[in-house]
Amino acid sequence: MISIIRAFQRYYVERSKAIFAPQVERREFMFMDFDDNVRRYISFESLEELRAYLMRMVPKHAYYSVGLYDNPSSRSRSMEGAELLFDIDSTDLGCDLCDRDDLYACRSCGHESMREFSICPRCGSSKILRLDWLNEHCIEAALREVKKVLDILLGDFSIDERDLLVSYTGNRGFHIRVLAGGFIKLGKRERMEIVDYVRGRYFSPERIMKKTEEGYIIPDPSEAGWRGRFSRTLLSLFPDKVLKKEKELLAKISRKELRDVVNEMVERYSAGIDEAVTFDIKRLTRIPNSLHGKTGLRAMTLPLAEFEDFNPFINAVGLSEDPVTVRIEHRVPEFRILDRNYGPFNPGEVVELPVHAAALIVLKGRGSIG
Ligand SMILES: [Zn+2]
Repeated sequence: MISIIRAFQRYYVERSKAIFAPQVERREFMFMDFDDNVRRYISFESLEELRAYLMRMVPKHAYYSVGLYDNPSSRSRSMEGAELLFDIDSTDLGCDLCDRDDLYACRSCGHESMREFSICPRCGSSKILRLDWLNEHCIEAALREVKKVLDILLGDFSIDERDLLVSYTGNRGFHIRVLAGGFIKLGKRERMEIVDYVRGRYFSPERIMKKTEEGYIIPDPSEAGWRGRFSRTLLSLFPDKVLKKEKELLAKISRKELRDVVNEMVERYSAGIDEAVTFDIKRLTRIPNSLHGKTGLRAMTLPLAEFEDFNPFINAVGLSEDPVTVRIEHRVPEFRILDRNYGPFNPGEVVELPVHAAALIVLKGRGSIG
């Protein structure tokens, strides 16, 4: 592991300027080292102090509080607000293509299979290890949800782009942070309402349509928000049931069909966020541009104009090409980093790899150094 820690350290020395935390002096920090020891209630007076700490301590995972405190390292502190955080993780999205490289391994006898099992078919043990992986489908699935959240934040809530921070988590997901003043002050209950809105809950078509003797007058499909989304969905599902009546659109549609429209609208536009994260104002979340301890990739911030073309295996590689020797312990699927393909590898193989590829295998629990 020492060569991976050294590679992390080199990153924190050479790329230290990229590390930042908005309003650093008001946040609590938490770090986990490579022996899985956790340090909490840490605070810094400046970004330079935080960067120096990372270079010196070289954590495996680095987090800060979404909460802003008057005295962040004290246990009797008071919270002055919290950034509004949306967490999208493809692990929660049930994407089969993302999960296709997951591996299940018996801790007792070493039997492994790509198919999930809870009792080992070879030895009967119930000590089963699930080893996930990261592929481009995980990123595609998560990015689709990021786009939905951004559409709502920028369109429905009219939040200024400059008040949003989008970042890759370094593993299978993304974070969207709202830093605008009004949102920082929201309490838990208001955050829950925002979650419901983003999820498209409690939408009642009867409330936005006017019932006439001939049918329902529906909102203009170009309208912002769920009103427009509703009409766009209705038009795409039942184009023949909508006709133009003077300036308005008239839908001759049954209640049952309206239900179908709402269900389809939610399916299309509701964003797959981890809801508990958004209303938890005490959450700790990954420091932008720090390294993720399960991949060695950068939790990098992404300009809004660029996030759709993002590829972590090209853009978020933070470790060097220095060669290290890896002993494969569990099957590794074929993968690609920068311009090179690696694998597939089988248990027992010993291979020499650039440390950025080695880190992915070792930190995902499928091999060890040396
Ligand atoms: Zn077994």
